[in-house]
Amino acid sequence: MEEKEKKFTRISEIGEFGLIDRLTNDIALKNSASIKGIGDDAAVLGTGKIKTVVSTDFFMEGIHFNISYSPLMHLGYKVVVIGLSDIIAMNAKPGQILINIGVTEKYSVEILEKIYEGIKTACAAYDVDFIGGDTSPSMQGLTFSITAIGTAREEDLVYRSGAKPNNLLCVTGNLGASYMGLQLLERENKIFKENPGVQPELKGYEYVLSRQLKPELPVKLKNHFVEKNIKPTSMIDISDGLASEIFHICKQSDCGCEIYQEEIPIDKETAEVAEELKMEPLIAALNGGEDFEILFTIDLKDYDKIKDTEEIHPIGKITSKEHGKYLVTPTKERIPLTAQGWL
Ligand code: ADP
Ligand code: MG
Repeated sequence: MEEKEKKFTRISEIGEFGLIDRLTNDIALKNSASIKGIGDDAAVLGTGKIKTVVSTDFFMEGIHFNISYSPLMHLGYKVVVIGLSDIIAMNAKPGQILINIGVTEKYSVEILEKIYEGIKTACAAYDVDFIGGDTSPSMQGLTFSITAIGTAREEDLVYRSGAKPNNLLCVTGNLGASYMGLQLLERENKIFKENPGVQPELKGYEYVLSRQLKPELPVKLKNHFVEKNIKPTSMIDISDGLASEIFHICKQSDCGCEIYQEEIPIDKETAEVAEELKMEPLIAALNGGEDFEILFTIDLKDYDKIKDTEEIHPIGKITSKEHGKYLVTPTKERIPLTAQGWL
């Protein structure tokens, strides 16, 4: 009887990653030009030596952005960054984008033009061509989806699945800034809604706000790898928070890891805002998201090649799967890492 009652599964019971697994685990590739399908930052296609990588992402009003505090040009710019981040995470060079928009009556032509100005500015900044899309009316809110395309020589492509025990785990830039920027904007938005006369208090927080509103990508990383003759063993972009991305690397590479809390790069301003908002900067770095930095693993023998690079930070090491996944605190306490998607 009980069996019969449980007809439907709530998405929250299996989470975002469980949902994707359940919907896609029986999908097999049949075309010889489909090299890699579901499971990495981008799919890999092509029969020649130069492969094409393709990825797609949503950017939805009320879920991923709030139109009341996102400058329109920045919105357009950020959509492009979201799309290209997955291409860079394959160690590929971004080449083209397509953008679909769903719009309600609320949005004037002028608003959309401003957003498109941002899209075009990002295309110029990252040297990519805007080659198409689709436009549809929508019932609610403004919706974007971006498809990003890039290329790489077959031997340069880096997947999530190549990490090996004793590899070094590294991240670019710093983490948690975008999340703290968002918390600040949310706070000021709430105050403004309650007292429309009050001006937002955003001075002195330019860095975290820019990381949230107009993020940039670590595009120089690929060249750096070429110059130093490094081929990472695995790569992923940090869009959902460090913990979640580490989980993906460990799952796809069938391994475990140790992350050293003290080595996680957090900017001074991120820590200051966190303190002001009575939040933990470590949580922002581990679970915040939208950092658009890159997490990668390298062979230990390549350590000397990256140790003096300011923008690259070793944060831990890969271990065997049996070892598990741990955050090691400054007092050497070992805390099991946890991560989830949007549920
Ligand atoms: P990212 O965070 O890098 O954009 P996701 O976690 O969204 O990646 O997706 C992980 C993998 O699952 C990707 O290979 C993606 O193409 C695939 N995927 C996500 N959602 C779907 C879906 N609805 N249908 C088919 N594949 C999906
Ligand atoms: Mg990704």
